Amino acid sequence: MQRFYLDHNATSPLRDDLREHLVALLADPPLNAGSVHQEGQRARGIVERARRLVLRSLPGAMAGSLTFVSGATEANNLALRGIAPSAPLVVSALEHPSIRDTATQLGERGRELRWLRHDDRGIIDLDDLRRAVDGAGLVTLMAANNELGNLNPIDEVAAICADAGVPLHLDAAQLWMRAPLAIPEGVSAMSLAAHKAGGPKGIGALWLRKGVGLEPQQTGGHQERGRRAGTEDVLMISAMGALAAAPNFESWSRLASFRDRFESALVEELGAVINGAVETRLPNTTNLSIRGREAEELVMALDLAGIAMSAGSACTAGSMDVSPVIAALGFDEARTRGALRFSFGPRFEEAWLEELISRVVGAIRRFTP
Ligand code: PLP
Repeated sequence: MQRFYLDHNATSPLRDDLREHLVALLADPPLNAGSVHQEGQRARGIVERARRLVLRSLPGAMAGSLTFVSGATEANNLALRGIAPSAPLVVSALEHPSIRDTATQLGERGRELRWLRHDDRGIIDLDDLRRAVDGAGLVTLMAANNELGNLNPIDEVAAICADAGVPLHLDAAQLWMRAPLAIPEGVSAMSLAAHKAGGPKGIGALWLRKGVGLEPQQTGGHQERGRRAGTEDVLMISAMGALAAAPNFESWSRLASFRDRFESALVEELGAVINGAVETRLPNTTNLSIRGREAEELVMALDLAGIAMSAGSACTAGSMDVSPVIAALGFDEARTRGALRFSFGPRFEEAWLEELISRVVGAIRRFTP
């Protein structure tokens, strides 16, 4: 049975060209980029080339620098803990756990938190942001929501933060290399991950605008200009650079029409209701609830039917808790507990659509709790 992998927001499979890139490097693996000998200098060259490629992938990024880290979770932690660490933090309940839970912990330790309002589609209240920035030390917001797919109005948010003179950190894990992305002037920091767009897992970066202070969270080495101690993973950094140099935005944008047809079929045939901001979403993502059906059970029924998808972000899916993001939208219990996320990826073919729809509809209809 052909399996359909519709969980690209959790992770997207490694692109073939990047696998080849890694295999070629493995034949003669680069050594320690911190060593002064020629072997070390070769590794350093690979790291610095990748850094340039990632910076070049983001118009506006030359006004800052890049710190390679293990992924967006680490980049988010570094930003929240390291930028203006004791000043009030403006944050939203719709963020990824690496922001939401980190902010909560900082709040428990005494940092002032200002939670932003949003509506029941997950659209941030910009008037509330205008109020919240007053006297704040940092605003953090995601560029694209991993569960709903919602795209935040980055330019407007950046302008509000710039007017108030408050640094803005953007979590761009779901957007970088999936769609064109630039760094507007009001953005001070940005988190990136390679694996959401076909790069390897375990590598990401924090971009930081020149002049923005950062307290390192990991000490014990001079790597990454003292911002992130630890021997660099030259292989993974190199693959992130190769990803940055070869975007394939069309392979993601074309998914909107498949997603829309899939979604309409579930609305018509199963009475699904769509969650999130329908007009401003990632083209690959749909989040919908099917009344009277527990998402938790449907994930398993769909898995048996050959469909890999998710009932929440991957980090919470293991424990199958109700997604805090969906819970924050304020729906009734049935809609909250029934929320399913399907996230398409570049390898999906149009010819598979009818088979996918009939399998999903069939599996859900057959499933009786
Ligand atoms: N931020 C967002 C919006 C995400 O979707 C993810 C991925 O789950 C992360 C952060 C964490 O990224 P990583 O898996 O690279 O640590």
